[in-house]
Amino acid sequence: MSFSIAIDGPAGAGKSTIARKAAKNLSFIYVDTGAMYRAMGLYFLRQGISPEDSEKIEEACEQIQVSITYENGEQQVLLNGENVSKEIRREEVGNMASKTSANSKVREKLVALQRELAEKENVVMDGRDIGTQVLPHATVKIYLTASSRERAKRRYLELKEKGMEADLDEIEADIKERDHRDMTREISPLRQAEDAVLIDASFMNIEQVTQAVLQAFEEKRR
Ligand code: C5P
Repeated sequence: MSFSIAIDGPAGAGKSTIARKAAKNLSFIYVDTGAMYRAMGLYFLRQGISPEDSEKIEEACEQIQVSITYENGEQQVLLNGENVSKEIRREEVGNMASKTSANSKVREKLVALQRELAEKENVVMDGRDIGTQVLPHATVKIYLTASSRERAKRRYLELKEKGMEADLDEIEADIKERDHRDMTREISPLRQAEDAVLIDASFMNIEQVTQAVLQAFEEKRR
């Protein structure tokens, strides 16, 4: 049987940074499920499909193949064979993914792929529904969160570092809107699983959060 660490939480809480570090420490593979929703979002965006047009979205699902590979330990996402790992990081793609991820056909397709990966390998998987839907029997479940202001500040600094224009209030409003969509959708809304360990990272650094995750895993594994 393989081990799995499920990390869920709202956008910008630091899930991917922490998941990547924990995976490296344990020599597990890191699976970024948000990247898969983004790849599908990118397809809909390229095809000019409206996020409200569920019929078109469901039709398009038949034409999409998402797969992942690893290059130097980094997850790469392929959309119908094309490596889209960079392009899916665009804000526009994230917004599309946040809307189209509410579609059950989209979720069905990706959940199957995620479960398949976790069966074969020891994984640290992050997303919104990993502990509640994808891997209900994960070795350990983490719910990682931070206040919307703290999450917005981190995103603001990231953008500033890249030399991009950014407005803190606007970023926070965007984060809150995305939280609301993820938490109130009908299928697999973001919520803390009953047996998840809650970590509020508002006043913790990356190292402290990583250690807390590793410790929770060790305790459960014993
Ligand atoms: O985490 P990230 O921002 O890359 O995810 C993009 C979008 O994909 C999220 O806003 C969320 O709506 C969706 N998502 C999801 N379930 C997951 C991972 C991501 O619905 N397991």
